Amino acid sequence: MHFTSPVHRPANESRSIFLQVTSGCRHNNCRFCSYFRNVRFCASPLEEVESDLAELEHLPRHFPKQRVFLQAADAFCLDYDRLMRIAELIGKHLPTVTSIGAYARIDDITNKSVEQLRSLKDAGYENLFIGIETGDDHLLKLMNKGFTSADILRECGKLNEAGLTFTVSIINGLGGHNYGPYSAIKTARVLNEIQPASIRPESLTVMPNSPLADDVRLGAFAEATERERLNELVVLVDNLECETRFHATQATLPMRIFGNLPTDKRDLHEAIATFAEQADEDELRQHRLRVTSMMMPEHALHDPMTPLLETTKNASVSPRHNISWGRDYNPLA
Ligand code: SF4
Repeated sequence: MHFTSPVHRPANESRSIFLQVTSGCRHNNCRFCSYFRNVRFCASPLEEVESDLAELEHLPRHFPKQRVFLQAADAFCLDYDRLMRIAELIGKHLPTVTSIGAYARIDDITNKSVEQLRSLKDAGYENLFIGIETGDDHLLKLMNKGFTSADILRECGKLNEAGLTFTVSIINGLGGHNYGPYSAIKTARVLNEIQPASIRPESLTVMPNSPLADDVRLGAFAEATERERLNELVVLVDNLECETRFHATQATLPMRIFGNLPTDKRDLHEAIATFAEQADEDELRQHRLRVTSMMMPEHALHDPMTPLLETTKNASVSPRHNISWGRDYNPLA
């Protein structure tokens, strides 16, 4: 298999087959992100993709072969013709596959018409994973996301018109200390408009080799406390009016809470607010530091600047506060 850049996947793609069709990130410029910093973006040659698919035909019989999740950071940036050709090749080599997923940036949708998106859906593309991170234009600009809330509304509107489903991730704590509710309210407004199939909040973890870590060192960015982040999540839930799944279950969060909106809104509010009230700030911070060290590449662990985050190489993620509250949990939803 040709994997030339780090493999990343959303939590709900744990049973998918990974197929590299791009490497690196076309944008590679978000201030909080270091995933693909040292990887040059390129599209995989189709011969390479086909050779990987031929190899995948020999997966053991018990291996699930229903869904392919394209690698890497924003594989949906490929143009319409290339994505259609990839779907054809998947159908040829893996006939049991019924759906294809990928990370998509908002600007990956811009060069595709609604008709093309509809054809991509018919070809098997389903449940794209889009990191909108926030609906707050000030933060989108500050973090160099490369798109605005108006872009999110327009491009996700096209996906909805085409019937191509999508999940979004947002980043709790992205605005730093004392900013959470502003971002939460604006993010909820955008989410209410775009109606994603599922919302997956992450919590900001400042990676030592990211530009945002430089901002922290220079005192230009103060991280939100863990309790602030939980309260931000409460404000978000309170302001969500759309019909969607809410999965606050990512490793960067200290708890797992999930449910259906709007039906479970009150219960989700109660669960997060109670957890926020009772949780110990230091304990929550320790959880984040452990997660950070798990997520860091080897070279960053030896970076002299790394002590900023007090990481330890051999730390493991402790069992999370597996409280919480959840209804009909389906990790693949
Ligand atoms: S957050 Fe996503 S789009 Fe931004 S640099 Fe990282 S991988 Fe690329």
